[in-house]
Amino acid sequence: MLQFDVLIIGSGLAGLSLALKLADQRKVAVITKKSLLESASVWAQGGIAAVLSQEDSLTEHIQDTVTAGAGLCDPAAVRYVIEHAKPAIDWLIAQGVPFTRDADTDTGYHLAREGGHSRRRIIHAADATGYAVQKTLASKVLAHPNITLLEHYIAIDLITGNKLGYTHNQCYGAYALNSLSDEVSTIAAHDTILATGGASKVYLYTTNPDTVTGDGIAMGWRAGCRVSNMEFIQFHPTCLYHPHAKSFLISEAVRGEGGILKLPDGTRFMSAHDERAELAPRDIVARAIDFEMKKHGLDCVYLDISHKSVEFLQAHFPTIYSRCLSLGIDISRQPIPVVPAAHYTCGGIVTDLHGRTDLANLYAVGETAHTGLHGANRLASNSLLECMVFADAAARNILASPQSQFIPLPQWDESQVTDADEEIIISHNWAELRQFMWDYVGIVRTTKRLQRAQHRIRLLHEEINEYYANFHVTADLLELRNLVLTADLIVQSALFRHESRGLHYSKDYPDTRPLAASTILTPTA
Ligand SMILES: Cc1cc2nc3c(=O)[nH]c(=O)nc-3n(C[C@H](O)[C@H](O)[C@H](O)COP(=O)(O)OP(=O)(O)OC[C@H]3O[C@@H](n4cnc5c(N)ncnc54)[C@H](O)[C@@H]3O)c2cc1C
Repeated sequence: MLQFDVLIIGSGLAGLSLALKLADQRKVAVITKKSLLESASVWAQGGIAAVLSQEDSLTEHIQDTVTAGAGLCDPAAVRYVIEHAKPAIDWLIAQGVPFTRDADTDTGYHLAREGGHSRRRIIHAADATGYAVQKTLASKVLAHPNITLLEHYIAIDLITGNKLGYTHNQCYGAYALNSLSDEVSTIAAHDTILATGGASKVYLYTTNPDTVTGDGIAMGWRAGCRVSNMEFIQFHPTCLYHPHAKSFLISEAVRGEGGILKLPDGTRFMSAHDERAELAPRDIVARAIDFEMKKHGLDCVYLDISHKSVEFLQAHFPTIYSRCLSLGIDISRQPIPVVPAAHYTCGGIVTDLHGRTDLANLYAVGETAHTGLHGANRLASNSLLECMVFADAAARNILASPQSQFIPLPQWDESQVTDADEEIIISHNWAELRQFMWDYVGIVRTTKRLQRAQHRIRLLHEEINEYYANFHVTADLLELRNLVLTADLIVQSALFRHESRGLHYSKDYPDTRPLAASTILTPTA
């Protein structure tokens, strides 16, 4: 049995910043299911929102966040995050993150402006902010003597008092599979943190890396924690559609520079959906593309910027130009095949302002948590901020709490299982789940489609649970099990909401109700 003061599951921004804040006073383990730098955090491009300039104000950042959240933001969480944004950025700067500088501003840093923000307030490191932040923090984590990094360890489930048959329920740590050795370790900890990111891989098309499979949400739920607002999935309108280009974003700036969205026969369609046409907000464009794809039975639509010169395209979109060319698409001559893609999970495990969940000694931080910051729609660049502010809050709470005694924990029991005989069941079910989630639980929903999805999810649940009970666990099986559960939570939440609000749009309930309420699901024992 491995034993640490604190077990952090996940090496994204939430996990690494929390580890560094604890490590001077606690023995910390960071486990991560692939390698240290594999996470959505590394892929973040734009930057981090914070009120840094004298020309900006907390009130305006709060207002922008609440407006995006469409009535569902928790005012206390919004205020807490935005008030703690500047110290979070100061901390990153102190760690050595090379944010882009601009001598002509009152902050000395270049601040970008993004959709939904009324001011320039996005601090960034060129167009690869996540990589700059994570690389800096990772080097500190590797150098810290109190942090043990366990790569290729995938957490299977939390160890709780309830599961052990104790009268007192708390989290005692987790079981984790070492996917290189195929051994399951018992990891005991006074405090455990779910920092496992969102669940965007539940959809066929996503901008997220493969690691984003809803593991923390599923583990928290199985351990008895409530989840909230899972129906609010943010879709990015334009992801490259190509069999060899997984998760490649076509920046919204392409539309900003005159890119036109077309059907395969060349017909322009955005002006029929919104008077701002291609320049309409992200959600409206994503919804319009979805509508056209479903109406015409299309695999993708096309974004045409070929009326611009090669020189212009190479100067403004060097990465997009060369990536598309490498796949045989010359964007100066051909339209780009695009689809909307799942980008961000607004809901998650319910937490308080200290990052605490419903289960004692279990915290959830980052995209896996539902803090109340985002409401029904996330304001751009508020998510990295949320990771850091709640990592700091959780660290302070952990350091201020007394540490409990370690108790002996049972080893993982594999006496009743054998090696799987048919791996095809796993790969088939992965593909089936992601396809029907895309078709039935995507951007535009109907009750009938949601019910169809729910029916299929129930069948998959049964099949996966049987498989899980009989065979040795593998990384693919664990992720599929978590994705099916997360899909179920998304569908249940979507069925509960009898209105359209923020990111949830139902054809059967197109209006927004006067009173806004979160969807909170509670696990039954
Ligand atoms: C392409 C892209 C661009 C983005 N741009 C921005 C932006 O500019 N600004 C912004 O604010 N947000 C942006 N976002 C969103 C933001 O990146 C994420 O919300 C944020 O990084 C989430 O951080 P996290 O630490 O919660 O999770 P992640 O960064 O996803 O990290 C989760 C970690 O947990 C590990 N893990 C998962 N399950 C397990 C398990 N069972 N066992 C062990 N380890 C596990 C993963 O391997 C990973 O290391 C972007 C997202 C994407 C995909």
